[in-house]
Amino acid sequence: MDFAVVGDPIEHSRSPEMHAAAYLERGFTDVVYGRVQVPSGTLATAIRRLRAQGVVGLNVTVPLKEEAAQLKGFRHDSWVKSLGSANTLDIITKRSTNTDAPGMLLVLKSSGILPGAHIVLLGAGGTAKALLPTLVKAGYQVSIWNRTQARAEALVEASGVDAQVLSRIVTKGADVLLNATSGSMSDAELPIVWSKAPKKLQVIDLFYSEKPTRFLQGALDQGLKASDGRELLAAQGALAFAWWLGGEPPLEIMRRSLNL
Ligand code: NDP
Repeated sequence: MDFAVVGDPIEHSRSPEMHAAAYLERGFTDVVYGRVQVPSGTLATAIRRLRAQGVVGLNVTVPLKEEAAQLKGFRHDSWVKSLGSANTLDIITKRSTNTDAPGMLLVLKSSGILPGAHIVLLGAGGTAKALLPTLVKAGYQVSIWNRTQARAEALVEASGVDAQVLSRIVTKGADVLLNATSGSMSDAELPIVWSKAPKKLQVIDLFYSEKPTRFLQGALDQGLKASDGRELLAAQGALAFAWWLGGEPPLEIMRRSLNL
């Protein structure tokens, strides 16, 4: 095994199939990408063990991203330092980066959503915390809504960026509705009046599952353009691949491997 994704749980991860598809098309025919279950608090020990087994690079997922950003002896890049979480490691040269936030920018750009567009961001958890400053600094106009409004207010305050906190989900004038809540994990219904959504609204759920979430179905029923979290999965994976092996990020190859 040369590369792996580590996390807990890890059996559901689709990273191995995405990376395998890219190795094949890019001619890295003997490179192997696996998945390894690594419980919280044991990342440094797991890295020593995996390195001794010949592994050179790791993708890091829930619940280890913050732990990865604190690894001693690693050079953490500016993405990791500003976001406080890392998802991609080179365990030979001991470097880390975070491709989730730049991955979101890649998803937007490849969907034709350019800086200046108005994004309504839903949620104020770990993912929204990374996305809010990234989107604003990239030139997007962001409004944020969270079930617990005080948390959204605290997030805007802590991020030090200019963003409007919404007391209800308003899509009027918006270009993108980006769901970074974990509501879709339980197929929760968010308080959105889909019939009032503008026709140009592009709807993105960061969660993905076999069938469209209730959130995405609401958008699809109105004929809106809608996509799920596989887009971000492919983008962060393609950026990690290029960080390790060079060349252009194999975005289309990874998207295809996820049936996009
Ligand atoms: P967190 O647990 O850190 O935050 C959860 C957020 O969701 C909070 O804002 C919480 O609101 C809100 N929430 C939870 N349940 C509901 C509900 N029923 N109705 C409305 N709001 C709700 O989660 P993460 O930031 O880690 O993850 C968010 C989502 O992003 C997940 O679905 C995850 O799968 C997805 N994700 C996908 C990635 C990808 O590559 N595709 C990468 C990263 C994340 P409150 O503050 O009120 O509790």
